Amino acid sequence: MFRSLIIIAIIGLIFIIIKKRFLSTDKAQARNTPSKETVRCEQCDIFIETDDAIADANRFFCCQEHQQVWHNRSD
Ligand SMILES: [Zn+2]
Repeated sequence: MFRSLIIIAIIGLIFIIIKKRFLSTDKAQARNTPSKETVRCEQCDIFIETDDAIADANRFFCCQEHQQVWHNRSD
């Protein structure tokens, strides 16, 4: 009984260490904004994270080239 408790504790500890490592790398990628919301590029319809998207009024683009192409198209 006592031995199984120790095993559970060790497994729990390993799990916490792995989780901490995963969280720290995830945090570094997300920087200060942890939001994982996605928006759609008006030009090519792919989904990008809001952090990576280029906001233009109430539209979003995956890159500056697509922003430019979209504007040239509509004007
Ligand atoms: Zn695009």
